Amino acid sequence: MKGHASEAELNDRIDGGLALRRRPELDRHLAACAACAARYATAEQTVKRIRALSRRAQAPRPVARPAPAARDRRRHQGLNQ
Ligand SMILES: [Zn+2]
Repeated sequence: MKGHASEAELNDRIDGGLALRRRPELDRHLAACAACAARYATAEQTVKRIRALSRRAQAPRPVARPAPAARDRRRHQGLNQ
């Protein structure tokens, strides 16, 4: 591998889209080059965070608050006492 890994190569490696025959070459470079290893780790973290966020966005929202109707009923009961 000549020079450092490109952003595209790092992203492809994370996505698993990098051609298999090129992966050993990139992995060797990542093992030997702290700069690219750090860039790879940062890019991997970003991808994981985005995937976690999109999973959370797709999940059904937990019902944490009472429905507005229930809140209104309690308020009316309070006024009547
Ligand atoms: Zn490098």
